[in-house]
Amino acid sequence: MNRRFTADYIFPVNVKPIKEGVVELDAEGNIVEISAKRRGDETYWQGIICPGFVNVHCHTEWSFVRGLISENTGIDHFISELERLKKLFSMNEIQDSIAVSLDEMYNNGIVAVGDLMNTDWSKVAKANSSIEFYNFIEVYGLRSDQCDTIWDKALALYHSVESPKNIIPHSPYSLSKELFEKVHVFQKKNQTLSLHLLESQGEVDYFMEAKGPLFERFKRWGLPIPSTISTAKRPLQSVVDFIQNSNRILLIHNTFINEEDLLFANEHLMEVYYGLCPNANLFIENQLPPLDLLRQKEAIICLGTDSLASNHQLSILSEMKTLQANFNIGLEELIQFACLNGAKALGISNQFGSLEIAKKPGLVLIENVFEQDNFNLRNATAKRIA
Ligand SMILES: [Zn+2]
Repeated sequence: MNRRFTADYIFPVNVKPIKEGVVELDAEGNIVEISAKRRGDETYWQGIICPGFVNVHCHTEWSFVRGLISENTGIDHFISELERLKKLFSMNEIQDSIAVSLDEMYNNGIVAVGDLMNTDWSKVAKANSSIEFYNFIEVYGLRSDQCDTIWDKALALYHSVESPKNIIPHSPYSLSKELFEKVHVFQKKNQTLSLHLLESQGEVDYFMEAKGPLFERFKRWGLPIPSTISTAKRPLQSVVDFIQNSNRILLIHNTFINEEDLLFANEHLMEVYYGLCPNANLFIENQLPPLDLLRQKEAIICLGTDSLASNHQLSILSEMKTLQANFNIGLEELIQFACLNGAKALGISNQFGSLEIAKKPGLVLIENVFEQDNFNLRNATAKRIA
C-alpha cells in the first residue's frame, strides 16, 4: 500500500523546498509522487522531510574504540593509540561494536555509507544491515618489498565484498610508488577513488620540504621515503599521475586545502568531490576545512563522519550542525551536501540523494528546526521515517 507523508516543509534537494509539500511512496519505498498540495490523507510530521543522508566516509571497523581516544592530541598520538587499543579487543567485541554503529547510522537517517576497509571485520554486520555500502578497500605501505603482499591481501578482500567497491590509496604520503602504481592500473570506469587529503599541516611539510612530524615519524619507524616526496610540490600535485585516470575522485578531509590545490584539482582531475568530516577534524587537529573558500570555488562538497576513533557519534546531522555553528551557511545547502552530492560522489544518485520519482532514497525527518529561526539546526534531531 502506498503511504503519503507531509511536513511543514519538504526538501527534495533537486528542486526548491516545498512548504507543506507531500511525498508519496509505494510499498517498496519508491517515490511515486511529489506535490505541493495536500489531499488530507497524509501523515503529518512536525519539522522537515528530506532524503536519507549519505555518509561518504566512515571506517566502521574502528567502532570498538568509541570514547577511548582523547581529543586534540594530534594525528601522531591518534595513530599510536589506535594501534595500542586494537590489541585489547576480541573479534566478537569488534563485530558487535560495528553492528551497533550501523544501527545508530540507520536510525539517525543515514541510508548509504562509503566504508573504508582494511579488514573483513565489518562483513557480517553489513550483511545484516539495510544501509547501502560503497566498499573502499584501502591500501597503504611504504616498503616496496611488501607491495605484492599488501596488494594480494587487498585483492582477496575486494573479491569477497559486494559492489559497489574499489581498491583505493589511503593518502598521498602512505604508499610506495609501486603500490600507488598498482592502484592506478586497477581503476575501472565508473568507480569512485577515495583519498585522504591534507588532514594535517604535517602532510604539506612532508611533501614540500621533507620535514615535519610526518617525516620524523617515518624516519623513526625506519620507513623508506618514497620518490613521490621532497618534490617541493603540494601533496595532490605530487601524486596526481596515480589518480588522474579515475573518473570520480573523492578527496577526504581537505582541512589544509588552499586555492592552489583547488585550481589544480579542477584542471587535472575529472569529477572531484570534497568530502568533509568536520567533527573528526576538530577531534584530531582542532581545525576546520576552509568551507568558504571551497564554496567560492564551487567545489562539490559532501559529508562524512569518519570513524568512532575520531568522532563521538556517526551522525551526518551532527556534521551539518558543526558546519552551521562555524560558518554562515543555510540548511538548503547543507542538505545538498548531506544527500545529493554524497550520492553522486559514490555513484549511487540513481537511487539516493533526492526526492525524485522512481528513486528510493529513504525519508528523514528533521525535528526542532523552524522557518522563523532560519532553519537553524542547533536543537535539531533527525530520524529515519521511511
Ligand atoms: Zn578516514
